[in-house]
Amino acid sequence: MVGVDMKALDSVKTFAVIGGDKRQLFLADSLSRDGYGVILGGFDNIVSVGAITLSDISTAISYGDAVILPIPGVRSDGSLNTPFAGDKHFLSAHEAGMLCKKPVFTGMADKLLKTYPVLQDGLVYDYAKRNDFAILNAVPTAEGAVERAMKEYEGTISGSRTMVTGFGRIGKLLSKLLKAFGSEVTVCARSSADRAYITALGYKYKNTEKLRGIKNTDIVFNTVPSLIFTEDVLKNTDRNTLIIDLASLPGGVDFEAADALGIDACRALSLPGKCSPKAAGDIIKKTVYTILS
Ligand code: NAP
Repeated sequence: MVGVDMKALDSVKTFAVIGGDKRQLFLADSLSRDGYGVILGGFDNIVSVGAITLSDISTAISYGDAVILPIPGVRSDGSLNTPFAGDKHFLSAHEAGMLCKKPVFTGMADKLLKTYPVLQDGLVYDYAKRNDFAILNAVPTAEGAVERAMKEYEGTISGSRTMVTGFGRIGKLLSKLLKAFGSEVTVCARSSADRAYITALGYKYKNTEKLRGIKNTDIVFNTVPSLIFTEDVLKNTDRNTLIIDLASLPGGVDFEAADALGIDACRALSLPGKCSPKAAGDIIKKTVYTILS
């Protein structure tokens, strides 16, 4: 953390919000309503966001006391993740040098640090890695998953037979939501403690490690970030079962095999940003405030 004044965290008055999707715009708006100065960079295709200043990325970096990047902060080619900008932007040595001198908040910090190793001398916080962020973010993810199911499934969630694989942050909230909709919910977990909770909460359970196929299920939501829907499992799965994979890439489903077997399977990623950008922006803000405090 060479060159970073740790007191910088206490004295943040202006945030530079750079790049990202709609949730970053809501984040900027929310910060501004809280009384912070906000400067947006990397939103060339947007004309105005209330009274918030829009500028180029370099100016935003230089004026912000702290910088907030999206999830991930950089794309795989090393350019900043700026879907609302016309051109790709790679950090210059000067910009990276400026970033080293102020707190930087980003999701998937490892990607940013790998692309711009000089930032390892700075103060880079990965807000998306934190449990408090991931738990709150599971709420819009679970709602987005239900919305996706409503779009893809021809029946109603009420009265449907659903399965949630994984009983982590998203699995817990999603199964609760599905039950509230009147679905008959089965949850797959590998730990016996989780299976006990699942029973106590009134869901059916299965042991993920013994999953050999899916029968009598209308919709499967996968949250396990590991390949569990292998070709063998899919061969023993009813053709009319819809599988929605929520796990980050590479996900938990062999999509090639699903396609070959005629099973309807799809990925549903970045749901908070797509379905609930306002809530998702607020969750980033809350997490940044927690880190600052
Ligand atoms: P989590 O809290 O870590 O839960 C993961 C669950 O998967 C746990 O129940 C875990 O079981 C289980 N699991 C992990 N590896 C397994 C394996 N090899 N076999 C069987 N079970 C296994 O994660 P989360 O926050 O719910 O997120 C789940 C996934 O969704 C992640 O990939 C995350 O990046 C992604 N995500 C997606 C979105 C979206 O919009 N689609 C949004 C946010 C996050 P144990 O507890 O026994 O380890």
